[in-house]
Amino acid sequence: MRYNIGLLKGDGIGPEIVESAVRVLETVGKKFGHEFVFTDYDIGGAALDKYGIPLPDATVEGCLASDSVLLGAVGGPKWDTLPGNLRPEKALLGIREAMGLFTNLRPAKLYSALKDDCPLRCDIVENGFDIMIVRELTGGIYFGERGMREGKYGEEAYDTECYSRMEIERIARVAFESARKRKGKLTSIDKANVLESSRLWRKVVHEIAEQYSDVECSDMLVDNAAMQLVRNPAQFDVIVTSNMFGDILSDEASQITGSIGMLPSASLGETSRGLYEPIHGSAPDIAGKGLANPIATILSAAMMLLYSFGLASESDCIVAAVDKVLDAGYRTADIAHGADSLSTTEITDKIIENI
Ligand code: NAD
Repeated sequence: MRYNIGLLKGDGIGPEIVESAVRVLETVGKKFGHEFVFTDYDIGGAALDKYGIPLPDATVEGCLASDSVLLGAVGGPKWDTLPGNLRPEKALLGIREAMGLFTNLRPAKLYSALKDDCPLRCDIVENGFDIMIVRELTGGIYFGERGMREGKYGEEAYDTECYSRMEIERIARVAFESARKRKGKLTSIDKANVLESSRLWRKVVHEIAEQYSDVECSDMLVDNAAMQLVRNPAQFDVIVTSNMFGDILSDEASQITGSIGMLPSASLGETSRGLYEPIHGSAPDIAGKGLANPIATILSAAMMLLYSFGLASESDCIVAAVDKVLDAGYRTADIAHGADSLSTTEITDKIIENI
Protein backbone atom coordinates (compact mmCIF):
# COMPACT_ATOMS: atom_id res chain seq x y z
CA MET A 1 0.00 0.00 0.00
CA ARG A 2 1.03 3.61 -0.60
CA TYR A 3 0.39 6.24 2.06
CA ASN A 4 0.91 10.02 1.78
CA ILE A 5 2.15 11.45 5.05
CA GLY A 6 2.28 15.19 5.68
CA LEU A 7 5.22 16.25 7.86
CA LEU A 8 4.99 19.32 10.08
CA LYS A 9 8.50 19.40 11.51
CA GLY A 10 8.08 22.80 13.17
CA ASP A 11 10.67 24.33 15.45
CA GLY A 12 13.40 23.51 17.95
CA ILE A 13 13.95 19.75 18.11
CA GLY A 14 10.94 19.21 15.77
CA PRO A 15 13.00 18.57 12.60
CA GLU A 16 15.38 16.13 14.38
CA ILE A 17 12.70 13.99 15.98
CA VAL A 18 10.49 13.90 12.89
CA GLU A 19 13.50 12.83 10.82
CA SER A 20 14.01 9.91 13.23
CA ALA A 21 10.36 8.86 12.89
CA VAL A 22 10.61 9.08 9.09
CA ARG A 23 13.62 6.74 9.09
CA VAL A 24 11.72 4.28 11.29
CA LEU A 25 8.64 4.42 9.03
CA GLU A 26 10.81 3.86 5.95
CA THR A 27 12.30 0.77 7.59
CA VAL A 28 8.84 -0.57 8.48
CA GLY A 29 7.70 0.20 4.93
CA LYS A 30 10.54 -1.87 3.47
CA LYS A 31 9.93 -4.76 5.86
CA PHE A 32 6.18 -4.97 5.27
CA GLY A 33 6.02 -3.82 1.63
CA HIS A 34 4.41 -0.39 2.04
CA GLU A 35 5.42 2.88 0.44
CA PHE A 36 5.30 5.95 2.68
CA VAL A 37 5.53 9.20 0.72
CA PHE A 38 6.49 12.21 2.85
CA THR A 39 5.75 15.88 2.10
CA ASP A 40 6.97 18.75 4.28
CA TYR A 41 4.72 21.68 5.20
CA ASP A 42 5.68 24.76 7.20
CA ILE A 43 4.15 25.43 10.60
CA GLY A 44 4.85 27.50 13.71
CA GLY A 45 7.95 29.66 13.92
CA ALA A 46 9.36 28.16 10.73
CA ALA A 47 6.24 29.38 8.86
CA LEU A 48 6.36 32.76 10.62
CA ASP A 49 9.93 33.31 9.43
CA LYS A 50 9.02 32.49 5.83
CA TYR A 51 5.49 33.87 5.44
CA GLY A 52 4.78 36.01 8.51
CA ILE A 53 1.98 33.70 9.72
CA PRO A 54 2.19 30.48 11.79
CA LEU A 55 -0.25 28.43 9.71
CA PRO A 56 -0.18 29.15 5.95
CA ASP A 57 -3.12 28.02 3.80
CA ALA A 58 -0.79 25.74 1.85
CA THR A 59 -0.05 23.84 5.07
CA VAL A 60 -3.74 23.35 5.85
CA GLU A 61 -4.46 22.28 2.26
CA GLY A 62 -1.47 19.92 2.25
CA CYS A 63 -2.56 18.29 5.52
CA LEU A 64 -6.12 17.87 4.29
CA ALA A 65 -4.79 16.21 1.14
CA SER A 66 -2.57 13.79 3.12
CA ASP A 67 -3.57 10.36 4.37
CA SER A 68 -2.24 11.38 7.78
CA VAL A 69 0.01 13.97 9.42
CA LEU A 70 3.03 13.76 11.72
CA LEU A 71 3.95 16.85 13.74
CA GLY A 72 7.18 17.59 15.63
CA ALA A 73 6.65 20.63 17.84
CA VAL A 74 6.31 24.38 17.49
CA GLY A 75 7.46 27.45 19.36
CA GLY A 76 10.59 28.96 20.82
CA PRO A 77 11.98 32.11 22.44
CA LYS A 78 12.44 33.82 19.05
CA TRP A 79 8.67 34.13 18.64
CA ASP A 80 7.65 34.50 22.31
CA THR A 81 7.03 38.24 22.16
CA LEU A 82 4.65 38.11 19.18
CA PRO A 83 0.95 38.90 19.80
CA GLY A 84 -1.31 35.91 20.62
CA ASN A 85 -2.74 35.44 17.12
CA LEU A 86 0.77 35.23 15.65
CA ARG A 87 2.25 32.87 18.23
CA PRO A 88 3.50 29.57 16.76
CA GLU A 89 1.25 27.67 19.21
CA LYS A 90 -1.79 29.28 17.58
CA ALA A 91 -1.07 27.08 14.56
CA LEU A 92 -1.74 23.96 16.66
CA LEU A 93 -5.32 24.97 17.45
CA GLY A 94 -5.77 26.07 13.83
CA ILE A 95 -4.60 22.83 12.27
CA ARG A 96 -6.62 20.70 14.74
CA GLU A 97 -9.72 22.71 13.94
CA ALA A 98 -9.11 22.62 10.16
CA MET A 99 -8.69 18.84 10.29
CA GLY A 100 -11.86 18.42 12.40
CA LEU A 101 -10.03 16.57 15.17
CA PHE A 102 -12.30 16.06 18.17
CA THR A 103 -10.52 13.20 19.93
CA ASN A 104 -7.16 13.28 21.62
CA LEU A 105 -5.62 9.94 22.55
CA ARG A 106 -2.79 10.13 25.05
CA PRO A 107 -1.29 6.89 26.27
CA ALA A 108 0.65 7.08 29.53
CA LYS A 109 2.70 3.95 29.98
CA LEU A 110 5.37 3.19 32.52
CA TYR A 111 8.09 1.18 30.82
CA SER A 112 9.49 -1.50 33.10
CA ALA A 113 12.99 -0.45 32.05
CA LEU A 114 12.24 3.11 33.21
CA LYS A 115 10.57 2.42 36.55
CA ASP A 116 13.20 4.45 38.36
CA ASP A 117 12.10 7.56 36.45
CA CYS A 118 8.63 7.38 37.99
CA PRO A 119 8.20 9.89 40.81
CA LEU A 120 5.77 7.56 42.64
CA ARG A 121 6.86 5.11 45.37
CA CYS A 122 8.11 1.85 43.89
CA ASP A 123 5.47 -0.27 45.69
CA ILE A 124 2.76 1.77 43.92
CA VAL A 125 4.15 1.10 40.45
CA GLU A 126 5.51 -2.38 41.06
CA ASN A 127 3.39 -3.78 38.23
CA GLY A 128 3.71 -0.75 35.97
CA PHE A 129 0.72 0.96 34.37
CA ASP A 130 -0.58 1.49 30.87
CA ILE A 131 -3.35 4.06 30.57
CA MET A 132 -5.05 5.44 27.47
CA ILE A 133 -6.62 8.84 28.04
CA VAL A 134 -9.34 9.74 25.55
CA ARG A 135 -9.90 13.48 25.78
CA GLU A 136 -12.64 15.42 24.01
CA LEU A 137 -10.79 18.08 22.04
CA THR A 138 -13.14 20.58 20.43
CA GLY A 139 -15.93 21.20 22.95
CA GLY A 140 -16.47 22.21 26.55
CA ILE A 141 -15.25 25.26 28.36
CA TYR A 142 -12.31 25.96 26.02
CA PHE A 143 -14.76 26.65 23.21
CA GLY A 144 -17.84 27.84 25.15
CA GLU A 145 -19.23 31.32 25.46
CA ARG A 146 -16.94 33.63 27.43
CA GLY A 147 -16.63 37.26 28.26
CA MET A 148 -16.18 40.09 30.71
CA ARG A 149 -18.98 41.99 32.39
CA GLU A 150 -19.89 44.15 35.33
CA GLY A 151 -21.21 41.98 38.14
CA LYS A 152 -22.32 42.39 41.74
CA TYR A 153 -18.71 42.96 42.86
CA GLY A 154 -17.57 44.96 39.80
CA GLU A 155 -15.50 43.56 36.93
CA GLU A 156 -15.97 39.81 36.39
CA ALA A 157 -15.08 37.22 33.77
CA TYR A 158 -16.90 34.04 32.79
CA ASP A 159 -16.37 30.90 30.69
CA THR A 160 -19.06 28.36 29.87
CA GLU A 161 -18.89 24.56 29.85
CA CYS A 162 -21.36 23.22 27.30
CA TYR A 163 -21.57 19.73 25.81
CA SER A 164 -24.10 18.46 23.30
CA ARG A 165 -25.35 14.88 23.25
CA MET A 166 -23.69 14.48 19.82
CA GLU A 167 -20.27 15.54 21.13
CA ILE A 168 -20.49 13.17 24.09
CA GLU A 169 -21.76 10.26 22.01
CA ARG A 170 -18.95 10.45 19.45
CA ILE A 171 -16.14 10.69 22.01
CA ALA A 172 -17.73 7.91 24.10
CA ARG A 173 -17.81 5.62 21.08
CA VAL A 174 -14.10 6.23 20.41
CA ALA A 175 -13.37 5.39 24.05
CA PHE A 176 -15.46 2.20 24.09
CA GLU A 177 -13.83 1.04 20.83
CA SER A 178 -10.42 1.74 22.33
CA ALA A 179 -11.27 -0.16 25.53
CA ARG A 180 -12.52 -3.07 23.44
CA LYS A 181 -9.09 -3.30 21.76
CA ARG A 182 -7.29 -3.10 25.11
CA LYS A 183 -8.21 -4.61 28.50
CA GLY A 184 -11.94 -3.87 28.16
CA LYS A 185 -12.16 -1.40 31.02
CA LEU A 186 -13.39 2.18 30.68
CA THR A 187 -13.53 4.89 33.35
CA SER A 188 -15.62 7.93 32.46
CA ILE A 189 -14.51 10.96 34.44
CA ASP A 190 -16.82 13.87 35.18
CA LYS A 191 -18.04 16.19 37.92
CA ALA A 192 -21.66 15.03 37.87
CA ASN A 193 -22.19 15.87 41.55
CA VAL A 194 -21.95 19.57 40.65
CA LEU A 195 -22.10 20.24 36.90
CA GLU A 196 -25.18 19.90 34.69
CA SER A 197 -22.93 19.30 31.65
CA SER A 198 -21.34 16.37 33.52
CA ARG A 199 -24.78 14.91 34.31
CA LEU A 200 -25.59 14.83 30.59
CA TRP A 201 -22.08 13.42 29.96
CA ARG A 202 -22.73 10.58 32.43
CA LYS A 203 -26.24 9.84 31.10
CA VAL A 204 -25.04 9.62 27.49
CA VAL A 205 -21.99 7.49 28.38
CA HIS A 206 -24.32 5.04 30.19
CA GLU A 207 -26.57 4.86 27.12
CA ILE A 208 -23.62 4.08 24.83
CA ALA A 209 -22.36 1.53 27.38
CA GLU A 210 -25.45 -0.58 26.67
CA GLN A 211 -24.06 -1.17 23.16
CA TYR A 212 -20.70 -2.32 24.57
CA SER A 213 -21.60 -5.06 27.05
CA ASP A 214 -18.08 -6.50 26.65
CA VAL A 215 -16.58 -3.32 28.16
CA GLU A 216 -16.68 -2.78 31.93
CA CYS A 217 -17.63 0.88 32.31
CA SER A 218 -17.61 2.92 35.52
CA ASP A 219 -17.81 6.60 36.50
CA MET A 220 -15.37 8.55 38.62
CA LEU A 221 -15.49 12.13 39.83
CA VAL A 222 -12.59 14.19 38.53
CA ASP A 223 -11.25 15.12 41.98
CA ASN A 224 -11.13 11.46 42.94
CA ALA A 225 -9.51 10.61 39.56
CA ALA A 226 -6.70 13.09 40.22
CA MET A 227 -6.03 11.25 43.53
CA GLN A 228 -6.42 7.74 42.12
CA LEU A 229 -3.89 8.45 39.36
CA VAL A 230 -1.16 8.87 41.95
CA ARG A 231 -2.54 6.36 44.47
CA ASN A 232 -3.06 3.42 42.13
CA PRO A 233 -2.53 4.22 38.43
CA ALA A 234 -2.62 0.53 37.48
CA GLN A 235 -6.40 0.44 38.13
CA PHE A 236 -6.99 2.39 34.89
CA ASP A 237 -7.15 1.03 31.36
CA VAL A 238 -9.01 3.61 29.22
CA ILE A 239 -10.18 6.95 30.59
CA VAL A 240 -12.68 9.14 28.74
CA THR A 241 -13.23 12.71 29.78
CA SER A 242 -14.03 16.25 28.72
CA ASN A 243 -11.64 18.75 27.18
CA MET A 244 -10.52 20.56 30.33
CA PHE A 245 -10.48 17.54 32.67
CA GLY A 246 -8.55 15.63 29.99
CA ASP A 247 -6.06 18.45 29.58
CA ILE A 248 -5.23 18.38 33.28
CA LEU A 249 -5.41 14.63 33.93
CA SER A 250 -3.34 13.72 30.85
CA ASP A 251 -0.55 16.02 32.03
CA GLU A 252 -0.73 14.44 35.49
CA ALA A 253 -0.58 10.96 33.92
CA SER A 254 2.38 11.93 31.72
CA GLN A 255 4.30 13.20 34.74
CA ILE A 256 3.96 9.93 36.62
CA THR A 257 5.66 8.11 33.74
CA GLY A 258 8.61 10.37 34.51
CA SER A 259 9.75 10.74 30.92
CA ILE A 260 8.30 13.49 28.76
CA GLY A 261 10.38 12.45 25.76
CA MET A 262 8.63 9.07 25.62
CA LEU A 263 4.95 9.94 25.28
CA PRO A 264 3.12 10.00 21.95
CA SER A 265 -0.36 11.30 21.12
CA ALA A 266 -2.96 11.09 18.39
CA SER A 267 -5.71 13.50 17.47
CA LEU A 268 -8.53 12.00 15.45
CA GLY A 269 -11.74 13.09 13.77
CA GLU A 270 -14.46 11.48 11.65
CA THR A 271 -12.05 10.29 8.95
CA SER A 272 -9.03 8.03 9.24
CA ARG A 273 -6.73 11.05 8.82
CA GLY A 274 -5.17 12.03 12.13
CA LEU A 275 -2.56 14.33 13.56
CA TYR A 276 0.15 12.50 15.48
CA GLU A 277 2.64 14.27 17.71
CA PRO A 278 4.79 13.86 20.81
CA ILE A 279 3.27 15.46 23.92
CA HIS A 280 6.40 17.51 24.63
CA GLY A 281 7.27 20.90 23.16
CA SER A 282 10.08 22.09 20.92
CA ALA A 283 12.73 21.92 23.68
CA PRO A 284 14.72 24.92 22.38
CA ASP A 285 17.31 24.37 25.15
CA ILE A 286 18.58 21.20 23.45
CA ALA A 287 17.70 21.86 19.79
CA GLY A 288 20.41 20.99 17.28
CA LYS A 289 22.59 19.26 19.89
CA GLY A 290 21.63 15.67 19.13
CA LEU A 291 20.22 15.36 22.65
CA ALA A 292 16.50 15.03 21.80
CA ASN A 293 14.77 11.79 22.67
CA PRO A 294 12.95 10.81 19.46
CA ILE A 295 10.93 7.98 21.05
CA ALA A 296 7.71 9.99 21.63
CA THR A 297 7.67 10.91 17.94
CA ILE A 298 8.56 7.39 16.82
CA LEU A 299 5.71 6.03 18.98
CA SER A 300 3.41 8.71 17.52
CA ALA A 301 4.27 7.30 14.09
CA ALA A 302 3.40 3.83 15.45
CA MET A 303 0.00 5.20 16.56
CA MET A 304 -0.51 6.57 13.03
CA LEU A 305 0.07 3.13 11.54
CA LEU A 306 -2.53 1.66 13.90
CA TYR A 307 -5.23 4.32 14.02
CA SER A 308 -5.02 5.90 10.55
CA PHE A 309 -3.88 2.99 8.41
CA GLY A 310 -5.04 -0.05 10.42
CA LEU A 311 -1.53 -1.55 10.24
CA ALA A 312 -1.49 -3.27 13.64
CA SER A 313 1.47 -5.62 13.08
CA GLU A 314 3.57 -2.80 11.66
CA SER A 315 2.67 -0.60 14.63
CA ASP A 316 3.41 -3.38 17.14
CA CYS A 317 6.74 -3.93 15.46
CA ILE A 318 7.82 -0.34 16.26
CA VAL A 319 6.59 -0.56 19.86
CA ALA A 320 8.41 -3.87 20.35
CA ALA A 321 11.62 -2.40 18.88
CA VAL A 322 11.45 0.53 21.34
CA ASP A 323 10.85 -1.90 24.22
CA LYS A 324 13.87 -3.99 23.20
CA VAL A 325 16.16 -0.98 22.94
CA LEU A 326 15.13 0.24 26.41
CA ASP A 327 15.38 -3.25 27.91
CA ALA A 328 18.91 -3.50 26.47
CA GLY A 329 19.76 -0.39 28.50
CA TYR A 330 20.13 2.16 25.70
CA ARG A 331 19.10 5.66 26.76
CA THR A 332 19.09 9.23 25.49
CA ALA A 333 20.44 11.84 27.91
CA ASP A 334 17.00 12.78 29.33
CA ILE A 335 16.51 9.26 30.72
CA ALA A 336 20.15 8.29 31.34
CA HIS A 337 20.59 10.10 34.69
CA GLY A 338 24.17 11.03 33.90
CA ALA A 339 25.16 7.57 32.68
CA ASP A 340 26.34 6.94 29.12
CA SER A 341 23.77 8.01 26.58
CA LEU A 342 23.10 7.84 22.85
CA SER A 343 22.38 10.76 20.53
CA THR A 344 19.06 11.20 18.73
CA THR A 345 20.49 9.51 15.63
CA GLU A 346 22.19 6.70 17.54
CA ILE A 347 19.07 5.63 19.46
CA THR A 348 17.08 5.80 16.22
CA ASP A 349 19.67 3.48 14.64
CA LYS A 350 19.22 1.03 17.54
CA ILE A 351 15.44 1.06 17.12
CA ILE A 352 15.81 0.51 13.37
CA GLU A 353 18.16 -2.45 14.01
CA ASN A 354 15.39 -4.05 16.09
CA ILE A 355 12.64 -3.70 13.46
P1 NAD B 1 9.23 21.39 26.34
O1 NAD B 1 8.40 20.16 26.36
O2 NAD B 1 9.69 21.84 25.01
O3 NAD B 1 10.52 21.16 27.26
C1 NAD B 1 10.44 20.91 28.66
C2 NAD B 1 11.73 20.23 29.11
O4 NAD B 1 11.74 18.88 28.64
C3 NAD B 1 13.00 20.87 28.55
O5 NAD B 1 14.03 20.79 29.49
C4 NAD B 1 13.35 20.03 27.34
O6 NAD B 1 14.72 20.01 27.03
C5 NAD B 1 12.85 18.65 27.79
N1 NAD B 1 12.39 17.85 26.66
C6 NAD B 1 11.23 18.00 25.97
N2 NAD B 1 11.16 17.12 24.99
C7 NAD B 1 12.29 16.39 25.03
C8 NAD B 1 12.79 15.32 24.26
N3 NAD B 1 12.13 14.80 23.23
N4 NAD B 1 14.00 14.81 24.58
C9 NAD B 1 14.69 15.31 25.63
N5 NAD B 1 14.27 16.30 26.42
C10 NAD B 1 13.06 16.85 26.10
O7 NAD B 1 8.39 22.51 27.07
P2 NAD B 1 8.73 24.07 27.27
O8 NAD B 1 10.19 24.25 27.53
O9 NAD B 1 7.75 24.54 28.24
O10 NAD B 1 8.36 24.75 25.88
C11 NAD B 1 9.31 25.03 24.85
C12 NAD B 1 8.56 25.55 23.63
O11 NAD B 1 7.72 24.52 23.11
C13 NAD B 1 7.66 26.73 23.96
O12 NAD B 1 7.73 27.64 22.89
C14 NAD B 1 6.28 26.10 24.05
O13 NAD B 1 5.25 27.01 23.75
C15 NAD B 1 6.38 25.02 22.99
N6 NAD B 1 5.45 23.90 23.16
C16 NAD B 1 5.00 23.33 22.03
C17 NAD B 1 4.17 22.23 22.10
C18 NAD B 1 3.73 21.59 20.81
O14 NAD B 1 4.27 21.90 19.77
N7 NAD B 1 2.79 20.66 20.86
C19 NAD B 1 3.82 21.68 23.34
C20 NAD B 1 4.34 22.27 24.49
C21 NAD B 1 5.18 23.38 24.39
